[in-house]
Amino acid sequence: PAQSMEELVSLCKRRGFIFQGSEIYGGLQGFYDYGPLGVELKNNIKAAWWRSNVYERDDMEGLDASIIMHRMVLRHSGHEATFSDPMIDNKKNNKRYRLDHLLKDQKADVIAKVAAEMGESVDNFAAVVAALNAQPAKASEVFKTAGVRDPFSGEVGDWTEPKPFNMMFKTTIGPVADDESYGYLRPETAQGIFTNFKNVVDSTSRRLPFGIAQIGKAFRNEITPRNFIFRVRELEQMEIEFFVVPGTDEEWHEHWLEKRLKWWEDQGVPRGKIEILDVPKEDLAHYSKRTYDLMYDYPTLGHEEIEGIANRSDYDLGSHTKSQSELGLVAKVEENADSIAKLTIPHPETNKPVVPFVIEPSAGVDRAMLAVLSEAFTKETLENGSERIVLKLKPHLAPIKVAVIPLARNKEEITSVAKQIKGELQSLGLGRVLYEDSGNIGKAYRRHDEVGTPYCVTVDFDTVGKGEDPALVDTVTVRDRDTLAQERVKISELAQWIQAKLR
Ligand code: ATP
Repeated sequence: PAQSMEELVSLCKRRGFIFQGSEIYGGLQGFYDYGPLGVELKNNIKAAWWRSNVYERDDMEGLDASIIMHRMVLRHSGHEATFSDPMIDNKKNNKRYRLDHLLKDQKADVIAKVAAEMGESVDNFAAVVAALNAQPAKASEVFKTAGVRDPFSGEVGDWTEPKPFNMMFKTTIGPVADDESYGYLRPETAQGIFTNFKNVVDSTSRRLPFGIAQIGKAFRNEITPRNFIFRVRELEQMEIEFFVVPGTDEEWHEHWLEKRLKWWEDQGVPRGKIEILDVPKEDLAHYSKRTYDLMYDYPTLGHEEIEGIANRSDYDLGSHTKSQSELGLVAKVEENADSIAKLTIPHPETNKPVVPFVIEPSAGVDRAMLAVLSEAFTKETLENGSERIVLKLKPHLAPIKVAVIPLARNKEEITSVAKQIKGELQSLGLGRVLYEDSGNIGKAYRRHDEVGTPYCVTVDFDTVGKGEDPALVDTVTVRDRDTLAQERVKISELAQWIQAKLR
């Protein structure tokens, strides 16, 4: 695996996985663009998730809802009131920070001082942050006296009181900008699933338990986007809302925890690298009864959330439904006089309308990319003493499945055979097959090691009967990314050979 974030960032830029957004104008913080190989890897991760969660199950439907949503959706979801992070400003230079990030970045003795002043244990970081938020005036004083430094200037800051900052992006809809013609870019894809619950049930005749899966962009105006694609303002999520009979929710929560860990393992992210955090009550999101956060051990960052698996109880459907008072809701919801739909489904045993509980596995695509790349990243010293970087990606995730390389790029008899092979392999539907004539063979191999191409197929003079050994006519060299073994394979058997290896 990668030893530092830096070596990943460098590889991603060098080989065309990930670029800074709007780079030619100086870049836009918190936005990234996925390059020629990044888009392939990202698509492959999403396809693997969809295959496993939609196609291979018999209790899931898919959805692709719109990104901009009615302001009422985000009001009744609770996001207008509570989707905020605490921010704090340094009056000396007008820099703004997320309170917990700022504190985490301080030296240990400073953190200890702040914790002591707030009357909390330094071992319970979340409690310290909660105390600071609860007593903003005291927080400001304590930050000054404890000597909390501004990470930008390095000097002790003159700190304001912390206050909540809502992270939703708001946008005007239509030609008239008045008080009501605005909507929000969704901060999670989940809300599109809840608002379509009735549509999906009515159009598919689903009964409990069943789920709706969605992959798509979400937007959060993070106060301090950082750590490459780990914390961005435009992100992509892979989310499932799995609807269950109330009372069976805890069992399903465990089911999904297991399923998701297994899936990460299949993508090359081993269990041993993921810690399961049973989120303490005081840290739970406004909708959650219980949440498991999967904390992957990122290079440089350490254990940070890659996926959250939440028991959202009947909070969401209960918040968005009409006739709330008749439905025996368990969650505490705000009154809703705006919804025109009753979000219930027949109880499978009694047939009485019920608002189901929801288990939500929610994974970030960008954080998945980072973890997958990090696990695949390998530095090896070869027998001849030279060093190579190789991405040992699972073949189903590799951006390029096979590179077909003509040994001489100006010899028609060689290039025409190579192009024919490329076409044949491409038609197998394995993913991208690249006709690679960009440089000498050594460079091509090194490049394909670095981007994780499982096989390189080389067409040479022997292939076309211009070599020394007549036995090699109509054969090609296939080089294995991981073992570096080179094997001569008959062209007539190549498609089958590759297919068997990549299955
Ligand atoms: P964090 O505590 O790191 O801000 P969160 O608890 O707000 O994350 P959730 O609301 O649970 O995150 O979102 C579900 C998933 O979406 C996360 O596990 C993560 O993979 C992804 N995600 C959330 N925010 C971001 C972001 N700013 N950039 C990239 N991915 C994100």
